[in-house]
Amino acid sequence: MKLENPTPIEWKFSERAEQLQSSAIREILKVTMRPEVISFAGGLPSPETFPVERMQAAFDKVLSQQGKSALQYGPTDGYAPLREYLADSLSVNGSQILPEQILMVSGSQQGLDLLGKVLVDEGSKVLVETPSYLGALQAFSVYQPKFESVDTDEHGLIPASVAAKGEGARLMYALPNFQNPTGRTLPMERRVELVETCARMGIPLVEDNPYGDLCYTGEPLPKMLNMNPAGVIYMGSFSKVLTPGIRLGYVVGPATLIRKLEQAKQAADLHTAQLTQMVVYEVIKDGFLGQHIPTIRTFYAKQCQVMLDAMSQYFPQGVEWTRPEGGMFIWVTLPRHIDSNQLLAEAIQQNVAFVPGAPFYANNPETNTLRLSFVTVSPERIHEGIKKLGTLIRSKL
Ligand code: PMP
Repeated sequence: MKLENPTPIEWKFSERAEQLQSSAIREILKVTMRPEVISFAGGLPSPETFPVERMQAAFDKVLSQQGKSALQYGPTDGYAPLREYLADSLSVNGSQILPEQILMVSGSQQGLDLLGKVLVDEGSKVLVETPSYLGALQAFSVYQPKFESVDTDEHGLIPASVAAKGEGARLMYALPNFQNPTGRTLPMERRVELVETCARMGIPLVEDNPYGDLCYTGEPLPKMLNMNPAGVIYMGSFSKVLTPGIRLGYVVGPATLIRKLEQAKQAADLHTAQLTQMVVYEVIKDGFLGQHIPTIRTFYAKQCQVMLDAMSQYFPQGVEWTRPEGGMFIWVTLPRHIDSNQLLAEAIQQNVAFVPGAPFYANNPETNTLRLSFVTVSPERIHEGIKKLGTLIRSKL
């Protein structure tokens, strides 16, 4: 039986829901799906790097050997062997991380939401970098904080600004490696100063590190987690080193916090899929990432260099950009009078896309900035797209 002409519901959304907005990036991505568009807008890892066969073999093995437990409900904190593996690999520089300090989550994005849920009240002070990861601003915004933007320069976050603005903050959200959106990396001295400042002021320091392994040369800088495991909340992700579609990340922190996050996660989704956790464990347990990550680094380093070379060739004087040492993004600062939102509208007409910088600012957006991603576009198309963008910018000078 189906009702005839039911009265349409007049939706009364919660105040929280009323202030939700779609991410600017997701909106742009809809336009950039057209194949003729050269898109530097996405934040997607390159599918060329996905170890599809390896994953397939692991799915087959897990399902044939442990199918019943892989398809059953599992514990909220996650698959124990994977947590033990991660605890072991995070225990460096004399700091020991225990499995009970790790919560597996459905992508580190879920970790951000859970952190907001357990640490942020309406009006709570939350410190973020200027600019910061849009997805984190979105995740925390649901809990209606008051964002305080911490000053940054070409080396990233300035710890003295945390000391000046941080009194009473519920958390400091930091991206020390190849930051999204700027590509900047926080130098060692600043890491130490930031950890010390937050510890002195009693501010939980969130270290979000999805790109940390993607350094083009040398080895990643030490994690802030290991400098003060009692005060740092570390967020890791398999999205950029394996594949994002499996939605697997982890939060590491003091056990008291992790238990609270676990309660929040239980309420949200009971647990992250056992099957994917078991498959990822199967893929990585014998050191696969040690061979796989260097291939991603080499691939991204080359793509990045192609874009930097094209920018030097085609961008006019007065345009500045970052030179990342890893990760997936370059940040561009245009002359002040150019609004990157308007520029995008014109660029899309010429089949080139990027992300305007404004949505990455919690306060006082700098509208003359934009983010470029170089990882999913072929070198030829990077050249073509940057050339078009350069011509467009030149026409505004
Ligand atoms: N943090 C940062 C800085 C990111 O760039 C992203 C993905 N774009 C995430 C967290 C979320 O990653 P995931 O949920 O795929 O682990």
